[in-house]
Amino acid sequence: MPGFEIFGVEERREVEDVLDTGVLFRYGFDQARRGRWKAKTFESELAERLGVGYCYLCSSGTASLSLALASCGIGSDDEVIVPPFTFIATIEAVLLAGAIPVFAEIDETLCLAPDAIEEAIGPRTKAVVPVHMCGSMARIDEIENLCRQEGLILIEDACQSVGATFRGKALGTFGQMGCFSFDPVKTITCGEGGAVVTNDKNLHEIAEAYADHGHDHIGNDRGLEGHEILGTNLRISELNAAVGLAQLRKLDSILETQRAHKKVLKDAVAQYDDVSFRNTPDPEGDSATFLSFFLPDESRARKLAKDLGRAGVDGCFYWYDNNWHYLRMWDHFKKLRSAFRLPLSLLEDRPDYEKIELPRSDSIMSRVVSLQIKLSWTQQDISERIEKIADVLTRTL
Ligand SMILES: *Cc1c(COP(=O)(O)O)cnc(C)c1O
Repeated sequence: MPGFEIFGVEERREVEDVLDTGVLFRYGFDQARRGRWKAKTFESELAERLGVGYCYLCSSGTASLSLALASCGIGSDDEVIVPPFTFIATIEAVLLAGAIPVFAEIDETLCLAPDAIEEAIGPRTKAVVPVHMCGSMARIDEIENLCRQEGLILIEDACQSVGATFRGKALGTFGQMGCFSFDPVKTITCGEGGAVVTNDKNLHEIAEAYADHGHDHIGNDRGLEGHEILGTNLRISELNAAVGLAQLRKLDSILETQRAHKKVLKDAVAQYDDVSFRNTPDPEGDSATFLSFFLPDESRARKLAKDLGRAGVDGCFYWYDNNWHYLRMWDHFKKLRSAFRLPLSLLEDRPDYEKIELPRSDSIMSRVVSLQIKLSWTQQDISERIEKIADVLTRTL
C-alpha cells in the first residue's frame, strides 16, 4: 500500500493514450476514441483477475457501495449489519440508501464476528456488509453461510483489500456484490475510483444503469439509449480509468513486495512474547498492506504507537484514538449530523448511536497497533525500521 508510490511511465502512457483522442468520457464517441476504452478494459481485466463474472468501474469506493446497496434493492427501513471498525463511507452509503446501520461486534480478525452478526439479526435485517479491513479478511466463509441460512444479502466492502483471497477465492466475490476503492491511498489507485463486482448479470446491469442516470448503453448513439430506471451519476472518467489500468497491471508485483516486506517485519515483532497478531483466517490470502498486532493492554498499546511515531517509524496507526476508522470517535455520526435530511424512520425508530456499547470491539481496538507496509522501502529502510521497532518494543513490554 499505496499504489501511488510506484507511478511510472506505464500510468503516463495510458493517460496520454486518452489525451491523444480527447475522448475523456467512457461511453460513446466510438469513432473518435480509435478503439481506446480504458474503463471497459479495466473492468474486463479486473473481473478476470478476481475470477468474477462482472465488474463495473465507478467514481469511488463510496459510489461502489451505493451501487451495490441500490442494485440489491436495499433502501428505506431496511436494516444493514455493519462493523464499527471501517471507514465511515460504509456507514454513509447505508444512510444514503435510506437504510439503518446496525452495528455488530468485531473479533480478532478486526472484522465482523459471525456470532455477533447472528445476534444482531432482527425482523428488518436485509443485508450484512462485512468490511475486509487493512488488507486482510473477515471469516467470510462463515459469514457467507450465515447469510445464506438467514436469507440475507451479503455485500462485501473489500475497498482496502483488492487482490486478497480466502482459500484461493478473491475477497469481494463471496457475496451478491463486492466493492473496491481505488482512491489515492489504496493498494492500486485511479486517483479517484471504485468498482463493484458480481456474478449476477442482472445485478451488474442494474449497477451500470444506476451509475449513469439509468442509461442502458445499448448501441453506440447516446441519444438513442433507453433508460428504464432512475439513477444518478457515479461514472468514472477515462483519465482516471487509464491510471487505474496501469496500476491494475502492477497488482501482482505490488502484492509480492508487500508480502515480502511484511514477513520480515512480522518475524521481528514475533520475537516478543507479549505481542499477539491479528487473526488472519487464511494467511496466504493476506494482501499484506498492514501488520496488525495486539499488546496486553490499552495503555501499553497507546504508548507503543506514540513512541514508535517519536522514534520516526511512520505509518503507525492506533485506530482506537483515530477519528477516521472507529465508531468511538465518530461524533458526527453518533449525532446523525448530516447535510441531507435523513428518512423519518431512521430518526424515530433506530438504535441510539450515542449510547451504543460494543465492549468486545473496544477491548480489541484499544489493544491493536497497525504498521503500514510500504512498497518503496529499500532493504536498508527495512533494517532501520526493525531496529527502531525492536528498541521501542523492548522498552514498552
Ligand atoms: C476507502 C474506503 C471506502 C471508500 O472509498 P473511496 O474511494 O474513498 O470513496 C469505503 N470503505 C472502506 C473500508 C475504505 O477503506
